[in-house]
Parts: sequence; structure tokens; C-alpha cells
Amino acid sequence: MFDVLIVGAGMSGLQAALSAKEAGLSFAVIEARDRVGGKVWSPPLASGRGRADLGAAWINDEMQPLITAYVRRFGMKTVRQPIDLTSIMQVSETERLEFPFGMVPEVNLPPPSIPINGYLVVANSDCQFASEERKNLEMIRDHIEAESQKKKPPKPEDDLLSLDAYVRKLGANEKTCKMVNIWVRAMHGLESTEESAAHFIDYCRRNHGLLAARADDHTGGNYMRLAEGTQPIAFGIADLIGYQYIYLGQPVHSITDENDKITITTTEGKTFVAKKAIVSIPSALFKDLHWTPALPTALQERSSNAKLGHYSKAVICYDKPWWRDLGFNGFFFSFSGPISIVRDSSVPEKGLYGLTAFVNGSVGAEWAKKDPHTRRRIILEQLASVYNVGKDPELWRPIEFFDQIWKHEPYSQGALSPIPAIGHYVKHWDIHGKPVGNIHFVGTEYSHHWKGYMEGALTSGREGAAQVVAALGGSRSRL
Ligand SMILES: Cc1cc2nc3c(=O)[nH]c(=O)nc-3n(C[C@H](O)[C@H](O)[C@H](O)COP(=O)(O)OP(=O)(O)OC[C@H]3O[C@@H](n4cnc5c(N)ncnc54)[C@H](O)[C@@H]3O)c2cc1C
Repeated sequence: MFDVLIVGAGMSGLQAALSAKEAGLSFAVIEARDRVGGKVWSPPLASGRGRADLGAAWINDEMQPLITAYVRRFGMKTVRQPIDLTSIMQVSETERLEFPFGMVPEVNLPPPSIPINGYLVVANSDCQFASEERKNLEMIRDHIEAESQKKKPPKPEDDLLSLDAYVRKLGANEKTCKMVNIWVRAMHGLESTEESAAHFIDYCRRNHGLLAARADDHTGGNYMRLAEGTQPIAFGIADLIGYQYIYLGQPVHSITDENDKITITTTEGKTFVAKKAIVSIPSALFKDLHWTPALPTALQERSSNAKLGHYSKAVICYDKPWWRDLGFNGFFFSFSGPISIVRDSSVPEKGLYGLTAFVNGSVGAEWAKKDPHTRRRIILEQLASVYNVGKDPELWRPIEFFDQIWKHEPYSQGALSPIPAIGHYVKHWDIHGKPVGNIHFVGTEYSHHWKGYMEGALTSGREGAAQVVAALGGSRSRL
């Protein structure tokens, strides 16, 4: 009998396993996929110029200590997100607005200028944001930022309102509501009508605020990438654990808790027995497993009704950064979609020039229904329209093109992390993530720090292992 079984070899499960090992526990990791990493997946490029991060990509070495410690331990090279040149806001299929990148408004720029979505938008003569509209957007952005800086539990009344209804109640106009919707699409793959205000604000609260969650400089979550992609971090942790303890290709079918032991069976016919279990699969997937005894009714209600976002990526690789030659930094966001947000994902030292498009929310869901050729055409057409390049041959001839629809993956079913149904976040606050019998839960969704990110997954994995170590009477390690 093992001390502990860990279900899932994503970042939280891997960290839980490594922490259990360091505490001297015996353990096994049971993973459905034939790889480690979960939503951290970076297949190699055919060009040999690195990897395409189809899941997590960005980190911040000043604000995310756990992931940074692995990056340093494994000697991985980082690439800073370019924040020079010009960005674009696509207002509609025919309207676009260019703006210089940056968090700090430059006083000498012609007014009006407005920092929105963490970026500075400069109004040109054809500006889409009139002065009152700008004030309206600033008012909402400042309100959400101020709320997300308060160290308080979420308010029950805010959990009964969608974020859309909440900002409308504060007086948001239509254009502001569209920007708020972009935040939710970009951050959670949903629409602002589908997530409660309490959850959105609390999510920002756990991520240093709304602006930090959106920022591309050293103050935020999109500060840097890894030259070799993020999945090598998962490979590195798996090496530290020892692959002999990780059972890949073993989807868990049932979990039985008989007080003195936990029995886990897989669809491949393997059985594991231990004193404790740490379950790291996203809670929205609990309904796919057979639990004996059944999970508490409240936990079933919370987990079965949670939504996983339509959070898809297209990674488009080129020989040359043609957008930079045109004066653009690669960043744009779009109200019309299907791409919500694009960021440069180049690694110049490897000769890799790339754009990563997030194709999220309801428009992303429609895009995901198309066949692969149509999806590729739609992405390239939107890029051509946003960059206004017509039949520019560079844009139309990527050297590699990936798209990844996380909603279609049976062991993810969407991303980033499950968003509770409206009204369920506060209602089930006391039970979500708490141990049930011998079963402990980890995953980025439970983290108090960088929830939704790799850092959050590592934080939660470490805490879950500490709970189990304590429950088993403390560390057995002599180290
Ligand atoms: C497109 C995208 C972009 C992202 N961008 C960033 C970013 O830039 N920066 C950042 O920090 N984070 C980013 N993230 C989020 C980050 O990837 C996640 O927060 C983190 O990887 C979650 O780890 P986890 O362990 O909580 O969950 P998961 O990675 O979901 O791990 C759960 C594991 O459980 C396994 N599993 C599921 N069902 C079963 C079963 N029945 N039996 C056995 N195993 C099972 C899964 O295969 C998986 O390996 C992104 C995610 C996506 C999808």
C-alpha cells in the first residue's frame, strides 16, 4: 500500500508528487494522457527552432517564485515580451485603432490617451473612444482594480450578478461592456454574462489585481516566455520525481474511500491502493469519475455546474517578423473575433518568429466547430485584416501553423480553470477544495496566489502534499 496516490500529472499533481517524495512518502502518480504537463504542452517545431506552447506560455520572474525557481534550477532561458512599437485594437471587422504599447501614459502624446486593458490607447482623429466613453471605461476599470486590491472575501450579492450585469449597474456603456467582455474572454474563455462579478474580482485579487493579470511588462502575468517552451519544466519535475513512479496512459475510472484505505482503478485495468489520495484533475471533470462513497452533494453541485472556458490557441510561425517591419509589436485585441487577443511569441535567437492567437469565448466556440483548413483560413484572414496587409505573401505563408482546442480534449474539456456557476462561488466557498475523507484536492483553481496559472498549480500542489504529510503524522524524510 502506498502512502499517497496522485491523480493527474499536470503542474499541481507533479508538484504534489515531488513534495510527497521530499517528505519521504511512498507514492504513485496516475495520469490519463501519455505525457506529463496537462495544460502545459509544447510540441517541438518541425523547423527545429524550439517548441510551440499550445497551453501555458508566459511567466513572471519577479512575481511568481515557484515557477521561477524551476526555470533557474533547470537553467532555462527566458525571452521578454516585446513592449515597444505599435499595438492594434480591432473595434469591428472594418474599424481598427492603433496605439503605442506601454503601461505608462506618455504625457507628450496628443490627448486624449487612455490606458485600457493595461495598455495605452491613443486616440487618433478617427478615435473610437470619445471623451465620455473614455471616462466611462476608466471608471469601470478603476473600480474593478480597486475592488481586486481589497483583501476581503467575495461579497455574496456580487456572486448573484454576472460581471456584465455588475458593470452595467455601475453605469458601464456599451463600449465599456465590450471591453469587459474581452477581459473575460481573454482570461477565462467565457463571456462576461457567464461569470459572476464576485468570482471575476476574487480571481483578480489572487493575481495582484486586474491590471497585473493583463499586463505584459514586469508588473504582470505576461512578462516573459521560455526559449524552449514551458513543457520542459514539467519534464524536469517528472525527472526529479522519477518516471518509474508515474503511470502514463492510465485514465482513472473509480476512487473508493474505505476509511482505512483508498482504492483507485483505471480504465486500463490497473488498481492502486494507498492511505490517501490527492486528486489534481479540474473539478468540472469530477462527474466523469465513479466515487464511492459519492462526493458530498454540495461538492457535486459546485463541480458539475462549473464551466470550463472555450480557450483555444493558434500558434503561427514565420521566418521573419513581418509585423515588426510594419511597425507593429504583434499585440492586438479584437471586439469582433474570432481571435480575442494576439501576442508575439517569437524567440529571435532561434530564428523563430511567431504570433499566438487566443480564439476564446463564444466566437472561439463557433470557430472551433470548423474543419482545420477553414480554421486556418479564418485566422490568417483576421490577421490580414487587422494588419491591413492585403495579399502580403509573408503573412499568408507561415512555416508552421498549430491550433489547439482545449475544449475538445477529454482530460481538460476547456481552460483555464473551472468557473463556478453564478451564485455558486460564495455558496460553496467552504467546501470547494477541502478534503473529503482521505481525498485531498489540488489544482490551480484552488490557489490563493496566481490562480489559473502554472504558479497557482504549483502553489496548490505543494499545499495539498503538506496537508497529506500532516495527516499521515509528519515528514518521514531525514534530509
Ligand atoms: C491555452 C492556455 C494558455 C495558458 N497560458 C498560461 C500562461 O501563459 N501562463 C500560465 O502560468 N498559465 C497559463 N495557462 C494555465 C496553466 O496551463 C494552468 O493553470 C496549469 O497548467 C494547470 O495545472 P493543473 O495541474 O491545475 O491542471 P491540469 O494541467 O489540467 O492537470 C490535470 C491533469 O489531470 C489529468 N487527468 C484528467 N482527467 C484524468 C483522469 N480521469 N485520470 C487521470 N488523469 C486525469 C490531465 O491529463 C492533466 O494532466 C494556460 C492554459 C491554457 C490552456
